[in-house]
Amino acid sequence: MSVLDDLLDAIYAAPNLTRGLCVGQHDLFDAVDDPAAVERALGLCAECKVLTECAAWADSQPRRSLYGVIAGHIYREPRPGVRGRPRKQKETA
Ligand code: SF4
Repeated sequence: MSVLDDLLDAIYAAPNLTRGLCVGQHDLFDAVDDPAAVERALGLCAECKVLTECAAWADSQPRRSLYGVIAGHIYREPRPGVRGRPRKQKETA
């Protein structure tokens, strides 16, 4: 299978989310550091007619590839240098 075949498979597997309420509003949905924008985007997702399809698509994607408000969830890029939660107990050297 060629790279083109892989790309076409990915394109055809993507759901049609052109009826999503986020269409044309990437500034609002990508503003994860703006609480008012996040609140507004989450509200639009809750009213969106393609929420189910969008959530299924988001669940099928690698989490690190997602950014912004998507299907009623907030995805932020991992911060450089931060690897998971802090340990609950101190390490013994
Ligand atoms: S659920 Fe939210 S992110 Fe998904 S298409 Fe609708 S408005 Fe956009």
